[in-house]
Amino acid sequence: MKIGVLALQGGFIEHEQALQKLGISFFEIRKLSDVQQPMDALILPGGESTVMGQLLHETKLFSPLKTMIDEGLPVWGTCAGMILLAKTIEDEQTRYFGRIPIAVKRNAFGRQLGSFHTTGVLTGIGEIPMTFIRAPFITESEKDVQILASIQGYGVAATYRNVLVTSFHPELTEDLQVLRYFLDLL
Ligand code: GLN
Repeated sequence: MKIGVLALQGGFIEHEQALQKLGISFFEIRKLSDVQQPMDALILPGGESTVMGQLLHETKLFSPLKTMIDEGLPVWGTCAGMILLAKTIEDEQTRYFGRIPIAVKRNAFGRQLGSFHTTGVLTGIGEIPMTFIRAPFITESEKDVQILASIQGYGVAATYRNVLVTSFHPELTEDLQVLRYFLDLL
C-alpha cells in the first residue's frame, strides 16, 4: 500500500510521521511527475486552503488529482484539506475538488477559539482527542453524507463515498485511530 501526501504547503510532515509510525509507505506530491506513480489513497493536509488551492493550479496538479478523486481514489482531508474537498464553501464562490456534498464554514469557531483541544466521539472509533486550528465546520450536508462527529452541534468529521474529512488534526496528536480508520476503508 502506498499513500500520496499532498506536500505543497501546511502540515504534511505530521501526516507522514503518523504513516511512518504505522509502517505505511508514502510519497510526497509536489509536482506533476509525482502523480504518475500509482497510489492507493491520498491525504490532503491542513494549512491554508486558499494558498493550497492556488499552488494546486500553479503546479498543474489540480486537474489530474481532481480526476483521480472523481474516479474514486480514497482521500482524507484534514482541516484545509476538508475545505478543498467540500462542494460548497460558505460566503465564497470558490470550489476546489468539491467531491463531498457538504457546505463548510471556514475559521468557523471564531478567532478567540482559533485553536483548541477537546475530545469527542467519532462514530466507528469512540472517544478521541481533537485538535482544532482555525478550523472549519460543516453547516449543511446532503443525505448520503455520514456525519461521523460533531462538536458544539456542528459536524467536524464526515464520510461520503471515497472521501473522509475531519476539521480537526489527528496527526497532531499521538492518536493514530483516525488514520487506521481511513486505512481500513481502503
Ligand atoms: N483556516 C484554514 C483555511 O481556511 C484551515 C486551517 C487548518 O488547516 N488548520 O484554509
